[in-house]
Amino acid sequence: MQNTTSIPLPSQPGQPAVLLYCRPCLDVQLMSPYDTAPLYRERGDDFEEEPDQGRNIFLQRHSGHSLTTLKKKKDKFSADRPVWDPFRTAYEEVTDGRETFLLKSWRADITAPRQYALLRGSLDIATTVTLPEEPLRSSLAGCFTSFTPLLPGLMKALQRTVSTLPSDELIPAYCSADDPQVSFAYLAEHHLRMLVQLDNKKKN
Ligand SMILES: [Zn+2]
Repeated sequence: MQNTTSIPLPSQPGQPAVLLYCRPCLDVQLMSPYDTAPLYRERGDDFEEEPDQGRNIFLQRHSGHSLTTLKKKKDKFSADRPVWDPFRTAYEEVTDGRETFLLKSWRADITAPRQYALLRGSLDIATTVTLPEEPLRSSLAGCFTSFTPLLPGLMKALQRTVSTLPSDELIPAYCSADDPQVSFAYLAEHHLRMLVQLDNKKKN
């Protein structure tokens, strides 16, 4: 079936996936370039090629409806298991530019694609920024050997300062492998400058 929407859908590997959304039906489908690739199903010792019908079924079901795309909101993500776990249930905020929805995704079966559903609502995520106690404590102790008695106070002051940093100013590094709610980031240069100034004030 032809693409009946005016929205360009990915068909070549490397093109970004599109979250296509039918406003009147509150239905969503992830259109990835791999939709056009066949699925392989095991039949005895053999593999049988079957076209993936997900994209066509969605376009057929919503033909004539007003379809639009949804964009994921940065840092508005929550999951019950780490990102590498295929059985994680994830919630993320998405928007059509006017309204915000919650996109729920999950997988019931390892051989089936992830399923998506749109819910009304938003995520209530409070982000806290902290410095890892170690190796911070040991490197500070190593650098300022004569200031050891001041270290607990300095650590506290540094923690207090980073806790006020807006998390969207941090430079994302990587996600925790074990805890989906934890991710690691680098401080931006102006943050470091701020912390060094604090350091100097503390010592003088
Ligand atoms: Zn529809």
